[in-house]
Amino acid sequence: MQAIDGQNRTVDTVLLKVASRCNLDCGYCYVYHMGDDSWRTQPKLMSDEIIKHVAVNLGAQYRRQQTPFSVVLHGGEPLMLGATRLARLCEALRAELPHPCGIHVQTNGVLLADAIIDVLVAYDVGISISIDGPAVVHDRFRTDHSNSGSHARVTAGIERLTSRPDASPLFAGVLAVIDPSSDPADVYAALKATGAPSLDFLVRDGNWDQLPFGKATSDAVEYGRWLSGLLTLYLADPAPPRVRILDDMMRLILGGQSQKEGVGNTDYGILVIEPDGRIDKNDTLKVAHPGADRFEKAWSILTDPLEDFLASPAFDHYYRQQRTLADQCHNCADLAICGGGMVAHRWSAERGFDNPTVFCADQRHLIAEMRGVIARMAAQAA
Ligand code: SF4
Repeated sequence: MQAIDGQNRTVDTVLLKVASRCNLDCGYCYVYHMGDDSWRTQPKLMSDEIIKHVAVNLGAQYRRQQTPFSVVLHGGEPLMLGATRLARLCEALRAELPHPCGIHVQTNGVLLADAIIDVLVAYDVGISISIDGPAVVHDRFRTDHSNSGSHARVTAGIERLTSRPDASPLFAGVLAVIDPSSDPADVYAALKATGAPSLDFLVRDGNWDQLPFGKATSDAVEYGRWLSGLLTLYLADPAPPRVRILDDMMRLILGGQSQKEGVGNTDYGILVIEPDGRIDKNDTLKVAHPGADRFEKAWSILTDPLEDFLASPAFDHYYRQQRTLADQCHNCADLAICGGGMVAHRWSAERGFDNPTVFCADQRHLIAEMRGVIARMAAQAA
């Protein structure tokens, strides 16, 4: 979201949760394995009735704010909608949100059959696929409900997509969750081999009470070291894809702006609409404690005009949460690059969100590496 005159807020990203269930059962998933079982109360799929309300409301918001925004189809696994309902959804959204508004899907790739790809092509839907690296890394956590690895099915889906000249331009990128015990060289090579134009990486979720997987202590820098290794590979690659997290941080060090939440000082409130039409906060907040992604009043796209929600004190408080920083962050030389990290990763039962991110040491390690690289480049160029 962006502020207009510090008051009315414009939408820039809508996460549309069109399916509450997933065909995979990844061990680290914050939706199903972080103690918040609210997905059980949601309908399995977004109904046509809700789709109609969502499209009409988002269309009204677009006409009101007159700046384009993106809708990301999310889940669970959004392609569980099936080709027919997916087509109805995309048709309804496109009728209200013409270009330059974007429609994207974040998928695990397993259900990327030709009939689904036909729909994505017809409505110009950008496709981002979750894959964690080569099979030995990916299959450790990205398993199905029978505990079988999904790597072969994901890569088959990617191949179906990239083999079609009409569909391959829609391939926006891949998204990997970092296993800090893996070799970044193996992961980088495997992700680059997919042909994706852009790679992005997420850390494993956690907080001060529940350290993220692979982090021995809060002061340890396993993720910082892993990302520094990735940085070295990236900079040495003569023909690299984009690597969003590294690009964002380097750009921030050089005085530019980030493009996505989690680093920097730009505001990225994410509007989340659940399958039943309920409006929630960024769902990654589930990793703090059950219900952390819920507003006190249950807002719904069925009954509440979006403009009322965006103007509400509840939304204002949520919007400011990213910038509500611990003292340690206010006094930190790396604040403009780090931004205090994702809100969900700041949580402790004792202090609530009034902490630096639990990845603070990793952030400082990586930023120091980046500053060193930039200084060496500057010295060579001088
Ligand atoms: S989380 Fe750590 S590195 Fe980031 S701004 Fe706060 S103190 Fe600085």
